[in-house]
Amino acid sequence: MPRALDRHGNAQRKRLERKAAVRRRQIAGALEEWRASAFEHALEQFDAAARRLKLTENQIAMIKLPRRTTEVLLPVRMDDGTIRNFRAFRVQHNTVRGPAKGGIRFHQDVTVDEVKALAFWMTYKCAVVGIPMGGAKGGVVVDPRTLSPGERERLSRRYMAEMIDLFGPDSDVPGPDVNTGPQVMGWMLDTYVMHKRDFLPGVITGKPMELGGSAGRQSATSRGLIVCVRKAAARLGLELRGATAAIQGFGNVGSHAAKFLVQSGVKVVAISDAEGGYRKAGGIDVDAAIAHVAKRGSLTGFKGAAPMRRASQLLELPVDILVPAALENQITRQNAPRVRARIVAEGANGPTTPGADDVLARQGTFVIPDILCNAGGVTVSYLEWVQNRMGYYWTEQRVNEDLQRIMETAFDEVYTTMQRRRVSMRIAAFMVAIRRVTEASEMRGLYA
Ligand code: NAD
Repeated sequence: MPRALDRHGNAQRKRLERKAAVRRRQIAGALEEWRASAFEHALEQFDAAARRLKLTENQIAMIKLPRRTTEVLLPVRMDDGTIRNFRAFRVQHNTVRGPAKGGIRFHQDVTVDEVKALAFWMTYKCAVVGIPMGGAKGGVVVDPRTLSPGERERLSRRYMAEMIDLFGPDSDVPGPDVNTGPQVMGWMLDTYVMHKRDFLPGVITGKPMELGGSAGRQSATSRGLIVCVRKAAARLGLELRGATAAIQGFGNVGSHAAKFLVQSGVKVVAISDAEGGYRKAGGIDVDAAIAHVAKRGSLTGFKGAAPMRRASQLLELPVDILVPAALENQITRQNAPRVRARIVAEGANGPTTPGADDVLARQGTFVIPDILCNAGGVTVSYLEWVQNRMGYYWTEQRVNEDLQRIMETAFDEVYTTMQRRRVSMRIAAFMVAIRRVTEASEMRGLYA
């Protein structure tokens, strides 16, 4: 072989080898990110903020990891007479600032690690909005679509009965989360009350109004989210009237967020749920989509927009505002470069991985982090708990005014920290929250 050709061949081979090595590293990175649990991601977020705050090892030891994890097996009699066991969890992450607070999730893929992550985020969510509660979360490994209403009721009651010693208005206050709503809360409250022989509605929030639920609780998470979106848009000089949005997840958070965005003049051009995605450039009739879900249980068969081939494409649409309102780990290092929204408003908990956060920061995407953006839900849960303890109930207007004030204050505190410390909104939110939890922990000291 002539020498020049040989040199050329070698150079090309080296180039190809280098390219293959980069690709191998990318694939390994994607796999690592995919395998890492939401809890590992949560701890990475903590570490980044703790470094900035220069926390000591002792301070970290007191507040980083969950304090108590309970796992039980719930035997439930099915309608056909058979007995099925369901794994169930309750994780109490931290209670230095007040009773543990956090919803209960029914989902076929829920794991103890996921519940730990969700409990962790609750601690810092309560702290970032300044409500006097700690963090917890519950989960049951079940696909509730496979249960009859009677089976769902027996499962909900058994969960409360098995965990009853953990719960109480002053110790741990559960609430709704994915696939659990006011009815499940009502059954759980009844079970608690029957055991305790005492009507204590403050033991659980997100209850039906007739059982001491708060006006405004159903839409509170999304109302808080829209307060944050309005504030973010104002800071970025983005006119909401005429702006576009895509929403992943069309349950409690997603559907109410869609309504509030439309009320603010935003065109909702894409929505999705676990069954599929739908888009319409001219704007989707959100009320029609909500009515469809109320009737059919999902968006399947919705005729008001065109079905998308891949629902996950929704995350990559050229919109001004993206609202992930489904589950964790949706925006990853892999698809983040294709996210084109100016604002990502995290309705869901943990929808963005730390790897994706880096990419979004480089792209200049304004991320309103979950612990701030979806804190409206726990804020009104807290207001519900306050009303239950007084036995005096407020109008929806009063609840909404308090919610708005709390969310606006929290947004401004996080935004100011972001600017002063030159960090992302997520790290800023954790810095505000971790500082509060650390101070409370230090003032209480260590009982030994
Ligand atoms: P929900 O059960 O009412 O709705 C969940 C929605 O997500 C459903 O439409 C479901 O079909 C959809 N979904 C599930 N997997 C999906 C996927 N892969 N792609 C697209 N859609 C998918 O639950 P929710 O209460 O609206 O909670 C949604 C998220 O918001 C969760 O992360 C939850 O932890 C968080 N959150 C909820 C509240 C609250 O008050 N409900 C408060 C704070 C945070």
